[in-house]
Amino acid sequence: MIPGAFEYHSAKSVDEAIKLLGQYGDDAKLLAGGHSLIPALKLRLQSVGHLIDLGRISGLDGIKEAGGKIAIGALATHHSIETSKLLRDKCPLLAECAGYIGDVQVRNRGTIGGSLSHADPAADYPAAVLALEAEIEATSSKGKRTIAADGFFVDMLQTALQPGEIVTEVRVPVTAAKGTGTAYLKVLQPASGFAIVGVAALVTLDGSGKASKVRVGVTGAAVKAFRAKDTEAALTGKAADDAAIAAAAEKATSNVETSGDIFASPEYRAHLTRVYARRALAEAVKRAKA
Ligand SMILES: Cc1cc2nc3c(=O)[nH]c(=O)nc-3n(C[C@H](O)[C@H](O)[C@H](O)COP(=O)(O)OP(=O)(O)OC[C@H]3O[C@@H](n4cnc5c(N)ncnc54)[C@H](O)[C@@H]3O)c2cc1C
Repeated sequence: MIPGAFEYHSAKSVDEAIKLLGQYGDDAKLLAGGHSLIPALKLRLQSVGHLIDLGRISGLDGIKEAGGKIAIGALATHHSIETSKLLRDKCPLLAECAGYIGDVQVRNRGTIGGSLSHADPAADYPAAVLALEAEIEATSSKGKRTIAADGFFVDMLQTALQPGEIVTEVRVPVTAAKGTGTAYLKVLQPASGFAIVGVAALVTLDGSGKASKVRVGVTGAAVKAFRAKDTEAALTGKAADDAAIAAAAEKATSNVETSGDIFASPEYRAHLTRVYARRALAEAVKRAKA
């Protein structure tokens, strides 16, 4: 289908994009990779008077280490994240997760800022940024603010972003220390690649093999991505063996209502979440010991 008519604006800087957002308010939408927004416009699920393209803003797609974290520009594509040596070496979970997104065309165009802002309940990054306790930087006419990943996903397709705010950077920790392992595993919808369930796990082991830190992010299972905090608490302080991992993973859906659709019932999604939590935790532990 053909989208409704809109005026196209190509912003040359974040400041210009912010100004345009202020000028057109609710009648404007930001465009990044276009791989969620353009299909929505073409299907007329959304319509917009002014499209503000961020794609020509230079310097917003970098991936660099700064202040003990890795700072990823909002326009970094899934492909550049998947193949970034810095991320693969120092925060492999995000690169692994990016490699699971859609197909090569989607990974070449789609951006991390667009994916997080869109907050599709079946998107992959939300699981990883939750497990990594990432920081999301939003910029507006009032300046910059940092939103913790744990508070970013508010509801289906809804985030903590306020009107006039643009995601400009995502910051993830360096996790490549000895004793820490991470893993992302996913059951995908075969046609689109979106997650029916995706689980990201981070485990740090102390010298005696006990889990001193456990983080589990889940996507696809519910209306928004979430941290499986009961699972995290159940494994923390325990020897990270198969029995403890299995017992902790059983709690992965204890505080959520899982979603049902034509691909999977709520019961099946809950089952998959528990199974994939167990597998992702076991893989993270294996990598922590390597
Ligand atoms: C066939 C297909 C398969 C896909 N499979 C998967 C998959 O398996 N896993 C997965 O996670 N995703 C998948 N996607 C979605 C894809 O990852 C998109 O790229 C992503 O969801 C949106 O990123 P974008 O850069 O394309 O954003 P856009 O489509 O340009 O924008 C999406 C939304 O975010 C807003 N926005 C964009 N950038 C910013 C910003 N910097 N600050 C604030 N708001 C912003 C826009 O206004 C819009 O509302 C798939 C898409 C397609 C078409």
